[in-house]
Amino acid sequence: MECNRCGKKSSDELCDNCLTEVIEKRAKKAIAKAGITNAAVEDDGSCEGRVSSYLAERLISAKKAKKGRNWLIVPETADRKAEKLLEKMLESKSTREKPNQTSIISESMSEEVFRYAKIRKIKYNKHKEHKTDTTKLIEKLEKSHKGTKTALAKAGRQLK
Ligand SMILES: [Zn+2]
Repeated sequence: MECNRCGKKSSDELCDNCLTEVIEKRAKKAIAKAGITNAAVEDDGSCEGRVSSYLAERLISAKKAKKGRNWLIVPETADRKAEKLLEKMLESKSTREKPNQTSIISESMSEEVFRYAKIRKIKYNKHKEHKTDTTKLIEKLEKSHKGTKTALAKAGRQLK
């Protein structure tokens, strides 16, 4: 198998190098788009939380810290966005986001974030997995209708 991005031999759609580059690029874009200069990360020790902290530390320029809005970075992957969309459709939860709250991994799938943590050797609490009833429902749907997860994630991204 070849990497979709650079064409080098890879065991996955993206090689390790490209995967880290892509995830960091997406995070950079999210930070620039929101104009984040000062942020706290909702880091619960989970893989998503640890990766969000790692990216925030590396990518947010500390120079301008303490000025401007205080952001809260939440550890939400594309999968989680998809879940939120489904929850909204099922009207079981309010999905309104707080104005100063954003995620810098919302363009990435959970699987990619797990791989990123492995490549970058980021340690996390394996018992802290974000598994809600909706997660389980999506996993069931994915089993019977392959592609559900990606389709929902895509729709969730368009819907903010
Ligand atoms: Zn590559």
